[in-house]
Amino acid sequence: FVTASSPAPEEDKVLVSVEVCMKSLSTARSEDVRKAVERMFEKRNLSYYDGPVPVPTDDSFLTENVERISICDTDEWVENHKILLFWQVKPAVHVFQLSEEGPGEDSSGGDVLSSFSEWLLPAKEFDGLWESLIYETGLKQRLLRYAASALLFTEKGVDPCLVSWNRIILLHGPPGTGKTSLCKSLAQKLSIRFNSRYSACQLVEVNAHSLFSKWFSESGKLVAKLFQKIQDMVEEESTLVFVLIDEVESLAAARQAALSGSEPSDSIRVVNALLTQMDKLKSSPNVIILTTSNITAAIDIAFVDRADIKAYVGPPTLQARYEILRSCLQELLRTGILKYSQDCEYLVLPNYSTLLDKLHSSDMGEPGEPLFLFKKLLEAAETCQGLSGRALRKLPFLAHAALANPNCCDPSKFLHTLVETAQREV
Ligand code: ADP
Repeated sequence: FVTASSPAPEEDKVLVSVEVCMKSLSTARSEDVRKAVERMFEKRNLSYYDGPVPVPTDDSFLTENVERISICDTDEWVENHKILLFWQVKPAVHVFQLSEEGPGEDSSGGDVLSSFSEWLLPAKEFDGLWESLIYETGLKQRLLRYAASALLFTEKGVDPCLVSWNRIILLHGPPGTGKTSLCKSLAQKLSIRFNSRYSACQLVEVNAHSLFSKWFSESGKLVAKLFQKIQDMVEEESTLVFVLIDEVESLAAARQAALSGSEPSDSIRVVNALLTQMDKLKSSPNVIILTTSNITAAIDIAFVDRADIKAYVGPPTLQARYEILRSCLQELLRTGILKYSQDCEYLVLPNYSTLLDKLHSSDMGEPGEPLFLFKKLLEAAETCQGLSGRALRKLPFLAHAALANPNCCDPSKFLHTLVETAQREV
């Protein structure tokens, strides 16, 4: 029971991000949408937690122009069993429209591999990616805060001779743990959160591997051309540019190979050119460089020293595996591939901590009962130890294909096959 005697003073309020996605055909001014959403929140006397907020049906301006409204980043509070009530919160409303342009590619390296792709952000392709990535260590929030601080320091003109910071992030860990996706979705998030400061936002994905294709003589030219292009983008101060360099360990490998004489020494020049270009870029305030590496041990390249934040992204823990499989199953239920034919119309799978509470307070449950299903899902998550996030997201598909009768959409049989499939994959 809460007595809202006096509202919290403005400075004590918790800033909660609210993301408002406009409809693709809407031509409304984002400023007007923002004001309308702020008014809507003023009227809304509820508590705040992550997730969608229904667009009010009695507000024709919002229903015409807004696709969805979501509250973000309150999980930390909720996990600490603090409830955020409306009078404690100051919503920071970010309005955006997704770009549907798709990636632009460059294939000037010949007709074999393109050396980079570029996207206008926020892009439709990366919509929902951030939310779909599950790490239980607060990794995502840490990255977001880091990047936000870096951009703020830049914006406020902090002198880099006095306080030094970089805008280079390195994510390393085993393949399939979501590093590339995390980089892309981080760029997408930042493009939404900083759209009042930067009117445009671009992501350039450089394929380090293809830069070091066997046509080394071309590589030098490619690097020069690529960075010239990025430099052109960066010159526009109101554009925020993300450069994603995937699999940076191939730079080290190229250098190593050159030293041992098994590759033309051209490659060493290319690696050095790339590092020099990156150093040049670093001085531009509106660039964030995101890099990934599949090598889990220390990466012995000059590059690593340049990164400010080095985060290890490991295989999913039990809780993360459960949550990944839960989101897969919920999607199969949503689309009707699985049907739950008990009296409750729509089966909602509990999150990990709710499930543990439920298991403490009741017995095993009968086959066909929801609790039995939840336990089976937990069993599948336990079986999947060692599988990457990528392998986990494929598992429900493999299980479906392995069903004796694919038209049978009984969740309990499906989960049984899922456990068997998991055992096989492990
Ligand atoms: P990496 O770059 O580490 O090899 P990717 O970014 O290519 O990994 O990951 C591929 C896909 O695997 C992701 O798009 C996502 O669907 C899934 N995935 C990987 N890790 C996770 C995770 N922790 N939570 C949810 N999905 C994940």
